[in-house]
Amino acid sequence: MTATPTVERAAAPPVAADIPNTPPGAMSGWRLMITAISARARAARDLDGMWLTPGARAALSDGTLVLAVDIHDAPRRWTITALRATPDGLEEAGRWERRSPLGPREINALRALLADDAAGHTVRVVAAPNEAPAACRTCGQALPAGQGLAHHTPAGHVATCRPCPVVPFGVNPGAGRCADCSGWVSAGEGLLAPAPGAPGRYRPVHHACPGQPLPGPPLRAATWCLKCRTTIPAGTGYWDRGPHHTPGHCALPADGLPRWSIRVPARESTDWTPGQVRRIRHTPTAGEPALPEGLPGGRIFADTGHMTVLAHVLDTRTTRNDATLALVRAATWTEAAPLLAAELDQALATRPDGGTFLARQVVERICGDTGWVAEITGHDPRHGLTREFLRPQTDYDQADAHGHRGVLDAWTLRPRRVYEVSSPLGPPAANWHAVRRRLGRRARVTAEHRAFVRVTAEGDIVEITEEEVQAWLAAALEWMS
Ligand SMILES: [Zn+2]
Ligand SMILES: [Zn+2]
Ligand SMILES: [Zn+2]
Repeated sequence: MTATPTVERAAAPPVAADIPNTPPGAMSGWRLMITAISARARAARDLDGMWLTPGARAALSDGTLVLAVDIHDAPRRWTITALRATPDGLEEAGRWERRSPLGPREINALRALLADDAAGHTVRVVAAPNEAPAACRTCGQALPAGQGLAHHTPAGHVATCRPCPVVPFGVNPGAGRCADCSGWVSAGEGLLAPAPGAPGRYRPVHHACPGQPLPGPPLRAATWCLKCRTTIPAGTGYWDRGPHHTPGHCALPADGLPRWSIRVPARESTDWTPGQVRRIRHTPTAGEPALPEGLPGGRIFADTGHMTVLAHVLDTRTTRNDATLALVRAATWTEAAPLLAAELDQALATRPDGGTFLARQVVERICGDTGWVAEITGHDPRHGLTREFLRPQTDYDQADAHGHRGVLDAWTLRPRRVYEVSSPLGPPAANWHAVRRRLGRRARVTAEHRAFVRVTAEGDIVEITEEEVQAWLAAALEWMS
């Protein structure tokens, strides 16, 4: 006989039933939930199923067949009972009194009683008989060992008598939704009660359900509402896949301008203060509305909705991971005017002109650290800018014997483009041989200088700021379209 692991199926909800105790006078007895009876089964050991403790309370699939065998002494006899699980408990389906153990005749009778889907039947023990004397938690009645039920709950063992309902069992050890009102109960603030419709499971309940329960865990610090993008004061609101106002407290801002919560690029976090106007880039998440038309400086870059717009900073805050977030709204034309004018100046300054000179960017390798040159071709939602790395031509003529100095990489830069250049900044770290030995051949041993550059009409390479790159990209998009 083996305990067959049963497969959970989307069947009728399980029914709760008490597994019969061994009757007084019986010498011993056993209980078995039967899931299969093979064609060659001749004795009890050939039955497939799961052992059950006499006196336990279990949740069984409707229609489950339970076999109860009790052995009496002097004279020796066997009482064999077949029981079937119904919504009202276990019902007797067959009974045999014998002077010998279960035999082929009873097995044939059991096979006829076994449901077609018995292999899919499941059982879960809800409560075991109490091992030690206890008192019923509900009515206080004394329970000698085995007479009551011991419920194993997340808050410890709780004993009840069989007829008494299971009452809340003291403080809830974990947070969750209230079994009565579905509002949020924080850990330790409510009680623990049996979950309705799920025997053996427990959920928190309020001591007294509040008139307006919070649908999720309360927020401690002040933050911004996912729905209306206004501030939620500290100590109010709740979390449900994002911060929300207490139900009924969302206040859509009167200005009607779209708002976004964005992550401030790490290098810029010092300059973002409420009241400033900044150009922001933002990729809307699924379901977030796209950029409305006609906003100052608004432009959509990609099919993903990745966008840029001039925004007025309303508020900033720092996350636990030290990232700075900003709550912004689209700037009005009045607010945007100075920045739009500055951007136009930059765009004119960086406008592609008639220059036709090519320029040569040369970067020396230092102790194996190489530079790179990338053309900036557009915007990238993840990296800010799209870079196309260019292949260098390498010149070893002036290199020293080890190639530590004098190896030159060169790139041809064209006018009417913007580039980013990275070059190693010597001298190398004093212990650079040791660094390479420890971290590998490609470990960096020098500092790095990064700069955005472009080629002037005269063929000179000049450094430009990231704002100029942005202005150039915006202008290039305009001039190319
Ligand atoms: Zn009781
Ligand atoms: Zn409640
Ligand atoms: Zn709100």
